[in-house]
Amino acid sequence: MKNLILTFFVLSLYTQISAHTINYYPGGPLEIIKIGHPTLSMVAQEIPLEEIKTESIQKLITDMIDTMKKAGGVGLAAPQVNVSKRLFVMKPNVLKKAEAVINPVVDYHEEAGTKLSTEGCLSIPGKKFKVNRYNKINVAYYNQRGEYVTELAEGFRAVVFQHEFDHLNGILIADFFMEEFFSSEDVPRM
Ligand code: ZN
Repeated sequence: MKNLILTFFVLSLYTQISAHTINYYPGGPLEIIKIGHPTLSMVAQEIPLEEIKTESIQKLITDMIDTMKKAGGVGLAAPQVNVSKRLFVMKPNVLKKAEAVINPVVDYHEEAGTKLSTEGCLSIPGKKFKVNRYNKINVAYYNQRGEYVTELAEGFRAVVFQHEFDHLNGILIADFFMEEFFSSEDVPRM
């Protein structure tokens, strides 16, 4: 019994320490963590609205955009850099600037149907997956300036949004794929 209590105490202490660690962003270059890392399976925490404009979150966004671009990706979620917060960056359109999406909510248009999408993930190097994605989604979120935004997303923008939103809920494309394959053909990674 004593051992059990001690084990419980040590475990809860460990959980508190690790939860603190992954919610704290110390700055500096960001490393993209890979499949198997526990943070990738966790449901990320909402960011309090008053924190969006803080230096810590603004720097995290800048560094995530930089990391995404250097990795040749079109999207990157905070859990992929071991920060368990509901934030991702994306650049689905090469002609447009990268943007940040904070505390997103997604409403899937079931009547608009789904399509098979071929995707790579920056946290699953070298592999590609075919997954089902909704064609249309309504989304609501806060942008980098802390403004509340709602929109109907379609096409590739909706695909990237769904991939990144899944990351915030601890879901990887390796968890629900229709087909997994190796191919030299280039696919979008996010
Ligand atoms: Zn991914």
